[in-house]
Order: sequence, then C-alpha cells, then structure tokens
Amino acid sequence: MILLTSDENILSWRIEMESSAIEGMIRDHTEAVEKGNFSMPTCCCHQCHKKVDGYKLHECRKRQLRVFHNDIIKVFITFLLRWKCPLCQSTFTEYPSFILPHKRFVLFDMCRLSQQYIESETANYRDTVKCNGSEIGYIDPVSGLCERFLSHSTLYRFIEYLANLCLSFRVSTFSISSRKYRTSTRKLTLIQAVFAIKNILKNFISPDFGTYSF
Ligand SMILES: [Zn+2]
Repeated sequence: MILLTSDENILSWRIEMESSAIEGMIRDHTEAVEKGNFSMPTCCCHQCHKKVDGYKLHECRKRQLRVFHNDIIKVFITFLLRWKCPLCQSTFTEYPSFILPHKRFVLFDMCRLSQQYIESETANYRDTVKCNGSEIGYIDPVSGLCERFLSHSTLYRFIEYLANLCLSFRVSTFSISSRKYRTSTRKLTLIQAVFAIKNILKNFISPDFGTYSF
C-alpha cells in the first residue's frame, strides 16, 4: 500500500507495501507469462519510434529479482518479454511496472529504502540498510543460507539510479538535511531522487491522491 497525503508535502509520503504484496505482483506476472496470458505492447518502437501494431514475440528471458523481507532478501525468478519490431527489425525488452532496467531489486523496495534515508534528519547509509539493528542478509535460493549482507553502497547506488530518472523538480518544495551531503552535486542528486520517487508513485495512485492498494 502506498500512502500519499499531499502532492505538495513530499516528506509526508509513506511507502507501505508488504513484501507479500510485492511477491504477489511478481507471482501474478510470472504466472501470466507462463500461461501466455499477456498482450502485445501498445507503445511506439523504442528504435524507430513508429507506432507499430504487429510486434512479434522475440524472446522470453529469465530474470532474477530480489525482495526485502524483514532482515533477509529473497530471490524470485520471473520472466521478461522481448519484442521485435516488424518495421526496423530491432528488439526491445518490456518491463513490468515494478521492474527497472539493469536492477534486480524491485522498484518499491528501492524507493522505500531511499526515502527512508533521505527524509530522516539523522539516518546514515549504514543504519538504513539494517532492519531493527540487524544486518539484512542475501539468501541463496538453492542452499537457503545467508551468503552475504546488504551493503550501504547498494543504497547509495539506488539513490543515484532514481535521481537519473528525474525529469524535472522544484528545489523550493522541501529541504534536505545538510548531514546528507558534502557537495552541491550530491544535494542535487538527493533532491532529484525524491522527485523521481514522487513521479514513480504518481503512476500508481488514483487522481485524488488518496490511498491506492495493490
Ligand atoms: Zn522499429
């Protein structure tokens, strides 16, 4: 569940999505692909930018996804579809709304953790990548054992990635704690990450900015 109480007061946002809800989205998507229950993309071709109504399914790729579940990170296998344009013969990957290109963590976990860090006055990277003081472990899907722990640099990269998705922002809307940055470039990155999260969430929320349940 995502709660957004006001469009203007960005720091009042809360991303509250149970890991079971995220896992449900992954499971639904995976089952739909397995049963062939999906539609052709309606977007323009990513290469020639023309409107195409006859994409051909080119490939179905396995994709590993990681989901936070309290103090562990679970691994799920799902599928990504690749489509071929009949006009220019190029292929492109279609991403479900919760998967980002080149990222194995799902969108909402990346947004939630980044927001937790940015909106807190005092939290640092190392604190934020813990769950109630415990390190968060990666669980090997085969052995079921914890292989390693989540690094604070992963959160740093989440924020960089989200900031690069930001198309526009208003600096005056809120302030970032001066403890969070040493350079104006990093401050800008944090602001851009917040606006990227805002834009991402808007796509999932009803027009009156009420509560949207998945
Ligand atoms: Zn094309």
